Amino acid sequence: MNDDIPKSKNSEGKKQWVVPQPIRKDGAGGLDLGPRDVLRDLQNPDMLVPPPTDAGLLPNLRMSFSDTHMQLNDGGWSREITVRDLPIATTLAGVNMSLTPGGVRELHWHQQSEWAYMIWGTARVTSVDQNGRNFIADVGPGDLWFFPKGLPHSIQGLEDGCEFLLVFDDGSFSDLNTLSISDWFAHTPVDILSANFGVPEAAFVGRPDEQVYIYQDTVPGPISTQAISSPYGTVPLSFTYRLLEQTPIITPGGSVRIVDSTNFPASTTVAAALVEILPGAMRELHWHPNADEWQYYLTGQGRMTVFGGNGTARTFDVRAGDVGYVPVAMGHYVQNTGTDTLWFLEIFRSERFEDISLNQWMALTPKQLVKDNIHAAPELMDALRKEKWPVVKYPPFGKK
Ligand code: MN
Ligand code: MN
Repeated sequence: MNDDIPKSKNSEGKKQWVVPQPIRKDGAGGLDLGPRDVLRDLQNPDMLVPPPTDAGLLPNLRMSFSDTHMQLNDGGWSREITVRDLPIATTLAGVNMSLTPGGVRELHWHQQSEWAYMIWGTARVTSVDQNGRNFIADVGPGDLWFFPKGLPHSIQGLEDGCEFLLVFDDGSFSDLNTLSISDWFAHTPVDILSANFGVPEAAFVGRPDEQVYIYQDTVPGPISTQAISSPYGTVPLSFTYRLLEQTPIITPGGSVRIVDSTNFPASTTVAAALVEILPGAMRELHWHPNADEWQYYLTGQGRMTVFGGNGTARTFDVRAGDVGYVPVAMGHYVQNTGTDTLWFLEIFRSERFEDISLNQWMALTPKQLVKDNIHAAPELMDALRKEKWPVVKYPPFGKK
């Protein structure tokens, strides 16, 4: 029967399955001849054939935006990953949104703080704080914004439109369940609106009868033509931050930019790292002592193994558009398995970015303890680094 399954020769001249099979190199496993989604199997080589070091029960830690509901509006679209889709992700929820040129995410606010990363294009964001101090800024690729919980804000696509990632500091948040100006107008008696603004009821005949969410408008002129002068001034801490202007930490395998309340003071509840992993490199073995990690993959493809203690570990294949999740303190690495550079965001519900490097921990611990604990070879002991290298080469040497 096996002879009926098409095979081809790989680069080493060995026969291999044209359609990937759940068979490990050591022979474990067997053919999958039943119903299957070959396209997904091709995207999930380390899930179809997990490394033999995987073991035990770890929950699903990955979800693709491609598997979510698309909210389509005149003016843009949005889709979200919350605890409803990825139950482990209780600390943060994410929304992927695109606005057309002139498209507006309407004036609204919510009970959660909003952190955002601009993926492509440009947008104008506005806000007003509790003291009547206002904010307006244009953001482009790699720029962040942060709106503290409860503060009203808006987003509008500029000349080329835009796409961005929104992250909220509550895993059960939904962007389709926010407080919006149109919804409030629609659900307030018109005599109350009339009294509130001191104008006749007739002034409200054109108001929307439900939440607008996203709508198409014209591309606005420069900020100078739109900015409103407040007698109370502008917000004291900028709500935007240009992450790509930050000098990165560069190591042999890539780079890292860290942003949290120490360099982006407005961002009091969300911290992040933008990580670049070159082809043939990996984010080193590490963990985060202070918070769960919510990941967003921007480009490329990779794999991540999460170590959960008690003999458990599970490997996930990830690619651009995926969200990954690592519960607090669980060990992990992210390896670039493709030919393109892998860029991803590590995001945390915390005022600080914190990570512990396995390598650095071992380097700064008495040698006898480390050596005898894991029977470390002399070359391992000699290679330990006291400095953190967030991204390292793979393979480091020897085999290609
Ligand atoms: Mn918002
Ligand atoms: Mn991490």
